[in-house]
Amino acid sequence: MTEWEDAFLTIWAHAVYLFVSCTKGGRAVKKGIHPEYVEAIVTCACGETWRTRSTKREIHLEVCSACHPFFTGKQKYVDSAGRVERFQRKYGQRSAGENKG
Ligand SMILES: [Zn+2]
Repeated sequence: MTEWEDAFLTIWAHAVYLFVSCTKGGRAVKKGIHPEYVEAIVTCACGETWRTRSTKREIHLEVCSACHPFFTGKQKYVDSAGRVERFQRKYGQRSAGENKG
């Protein structure tokens, strides 16, 4: 092995070391991009609360598995039925007014 080859291999080894270091650094940055999940408290309009994991600490729902008709088999919403009706009335009146406009 000549002196030149020895120097070349030393530089090459250093280049590989730097490349590996950069790749590891890139992974660390990507890891930081992922959203941070925390323990969240979910609160439903029916009063049901439970814990889950989310990017938000508090989650408020109109319906959940405890009060949704799909899960309960009942056709009555605990509170949402009134809200939907009010919303539909309000929206309906608004649409009629716009048509006259
Ligand atoms: Zn509910």
